[in-house]
This record gives sequence, structure tokens and C-alpha cells, in this order.
Amino acid sequence: VDPLLGTVRFAVNVGIGDEGLDLGARLIDELAVNVHIENDVRAAALGADWYLANESGPVNDLAYLSIGTGIAAGFVERGRLRRGNGLVAGEIGHIPIDPQGPVCVCGQIGCIEAIASGSAIDRLWPTEEGPSAAALQAAATNGDGAARRLWAGVIGGLSRAVLLLALTWDPEVIVLSGGVASLGDVLRDAIAERLAQDAHHSEFLGSLDLRTRMRVIDPSVALGPIGAVRAAHAARPVLLP
Ligand SMILES: [Zn+2]
Repeated sequence: VDPLLGTVRFAVNVGIGDEGLDLGARLIDELAVNVHIENDVRAAALGADWYLANESGPVNDLAYLSIGTGIAAGFVERGRLRRGNGLVAGEIGHIPIDPQGPVCVCGQIGCIEAIASGSAIDRLWPTEEGPSAAALQAAATNGDGAARRLWAGVIGGLSRAVLLLALTWDPEVIVLSGGVASLGDVLRDAIAERLAQDAHHSEFLGSLDLRTRMRVIDPSVALGPIGAVRAAHAARPVLLP
């Protein structure tokens, strides 16, 4: 998502590839108002920054990990988004972690997103009753062997994502949100437990204190719209012709 041009490219989950979509211009045509285009995860990261500031005081810097249909992160430092040179900062869902893993929508094999996202869980543990992540977690807790293995894979992928954020950005807070985070602290505790297991053989990993830095914000909180308003205020909108 290019907020200056108002364009979208490589939104692979919604079928937009290299050809791109001139979303800002299209919205202006439809709505006849000035618009600002921002990536949904980055908008939600700005929303999380605002939410935490109101709840418990300002945060110096935060990483926002969205665990929904896809997996991606946003970074906010002193209230400002870090988008990166090519606007792909935080697309950590497409870091491959398992060469034996499934093929990802991006074309690579074993991406974090292909293993641990909401859509990956839907594929691994399809259910008619409520969210598949809750069903998989409940089945794993109840001792179902297949569910335990699959849940361990999901948590393994998410703990890699959290570790990546901690070691690249070293943020004060790592926010977990998106559809899978409706599991609440159950999710945070499972990731923290996995990281603590890994820390048994790595004093360095233990020193990162990741459990206390992770915060779950329920996906019912409208972080995206809150952040979109903040982004639009801070940015130069795509203007009416
Ligand atoms: Zn991928």
C-alpha cells in the first residue's frame, strides 16, 4: 500500500498482484471526498498506540502483530509509523520457517503465515462451530493428539514471529491482535510458554523478557478505524482532481 500514490500492489490475499489497483483514485470517483490510503495492519498499529496510551500511558515504541487471515506487523515509534524503504516493513508473515511446510499464497514454502495464520488454522482444523483457532486450542487442551501437534505448530510459528519482532525492532510492547487473538491471554500464555521452553537452552532468549512485553488487544476493539483516522490526519491525502 502506497499512501502517497494511493495505490495497492501485491495484496495477495485479495488477489491483487503486480498490476496493482489505483484505490485512492477509485474511492475519490465513488465518494467525491479526499482520501488517504493506508495498509490495514499499519492503521491498526497506530490504533493500538493510541489505545495503549489511553489505557496505561504513552508507549515509546510498539510492534503490532496481526494474526488474522494473514500475518503481518506494524511498527510505531513515538506515534509515527515505520513503513520501510519499499513499503514492506513488517511483512514478516512471508518469512519461511519450515522448508517442509505448505506452499504460501506468496509462492514461497513454509512461510509463518502459511503455518500459523487464521486461514492456515481454518485449513488445518476446519469447524462449523465458531472460530477454528478456539476449536483447535480447546481440542488440544482436551488431549486430542492431532490437535496438540497442530496447535504446537501454530504456536511455534507465532513464537518465531514474536522473536523476530523483538530482535529486529526491540520494541517496548508487542501487541497481539487480529482474529486469532480473540483467544485472549490463552494465546499470549501459550506463546510465552513456548518461548520460555526455548529459553531453557538460551540465557540470551530468556533475558528478552518477552512474556511481560506481549499484550493482547481483543480484535473487537476497532484499532483499524481509530488508526486510519490518525493516519489521515497525519498524512497528505490523495486529493480530488
Ligand atoms: Zn508467504
